[in-house]
Amino acid sequence: MSQNLHRIVEQVDQRKQELIDLLKKLISFRTPAPPARNTKEAQSFVAEFLKNLGFKIDMWDVYPGDPNVVGVLKGKNSQNYKSLIVNGHIDVAEVDENEDWEVNPFKPVVKDGVVVGRGAADMKGGLAGALFAIQLLREAENELPGDLIFQSVIGEEVGEAGTLQCCKRGYKADFAVVVDTSDLHIQGQGGVITGWITVKSKETFHDAMRRNMIHAGGRLFGANAIEKMMKVIEGLQELERHWAVTKSYPGFPPGSNTINPAVIEGGRHAAFIADECRLWITVHYYPNESYEEVAKEIEEHLKMVAQGDVWLRENPPTFKWGGTSMIEDRGEIFPSLEVDPTHPGVQLLARSHRDVCKTDPIIDVSQTVTDGGWLGEAGISTAIYGPGDLHNAHAVNEHLSIDQLVDYTKVMLTFIYQWCHTKSDGQKEWL
Ligand SMILES: [Zn+2]
Repeated sequence: MSQNLHRIVEQVDQRKQELIDLLKKLISFRTPAPPARNTKEAQSFVAEFLKNLGFKIDMWDVYPGDPNVVGVLKGKNSQNYKSLIVNGHIDVAEVDENEDWEVNPFKPVVKDGVVVGRGAADMKGGLAGALFAIQLLREAENELPGDLIFQSVIGEEVGEAGTLQCCKRGYKADFAVVVDTSDLHIQGQGGVITGWITVKSKETFHDAMRRNMIHAGGRLFGANAIEKMMKVIEGLQELERHWAVTKSYPGFPPGSNTINPAVIEGGRHAAFIADECRLWITVHYYPNESYEEVAKEIEEHLKMVAQGDVWLRENPPTFKWGGTSMIEDRGEIFPSLEVDPTHPGVQLLARSHRDVCKTDPIIDVSQTVTDGGWLGEAGISTAIYGPGDLHNAHAVNEHLSIDQLVDYTKVMLTFIYQWCHTKSDGQKEWL
């Protein structure tokens, strides 16, 4: 580490209180999703923060009341140096009125070396650490040669993928760090896709017709869609078991690739034979698979299940995969993300972690999903690296260790400085 950088990193300890105050400030904005549509004030704060550090701001509504913020700090020699995206979500998990919090979840307190409040771990801690690192770099009048792009996005907790919007808007870089909850592990992730499976009869019958439909001599070729959905669910269970036996991925307990029947809706009322049944499923798959592949596998398997049933053969189930929001159109996708440990960005991040924490970082997989998959899908090499652990994410009395936040801020400061001082051909100017 150069003398110059070393001096800036030391500032994190000296100005720790400012870092804690920044985290508390971010937590104090009430941004739970659901209900969502409440991030404007918080996002304006982040935009102003970045603007004061010399970033050019792009802020736009993904939904009314939920704007994305992207700040771009153009490097002084962009052409020849590496660029970086730092990405985090401003929304937090919902808080139920009946939850038994020790404190008001949006009036954070410091207690026994931790900050308690909704979003401390997931993931206002990551945002605060990254923002403070950038602030210290800028205040030291450090002109980075490479571009630095900061994305504060909305909608992550409800599958609204503010990050996807950033990718569609054309933001790209040589590497991206998603500063979401990872307990300072460098992580990839499996993926999630939701889907609706519908069993639908072409005809509707009065419930008095049931005898004709199911008993000898009734002569009515029909079925109850709810009962037929039982075969679909059994088929899904068989496939889930088959996946558990045949597929695996390092870092995941066997059988993490699940198909969850989450919601079922069907029938019109008690005087009718149910003529439609809809099943909402959640599918978790491994980092080396795509959502297109797993959706196709499920469809093909259920087509065969339908072939084995006289009625489903004529009335096969239909599918609607994914969606853009759990609250708008009841669907979501989180693409999977594989981390390449040989990528120069991953190696430098690991090295920065080692320099600050004096231990080797763990490179593994997240047991949940983040926006990292969208950046990966846009062709940007990406890793998840943030403070806080998953026991705290979404939990009552969610908290974050201040020591970990301080370490995190130092690692990010070191990493951002060094990555944006790395030449495009890999030459490290900061050595
Ligand atoms: Zn998160």
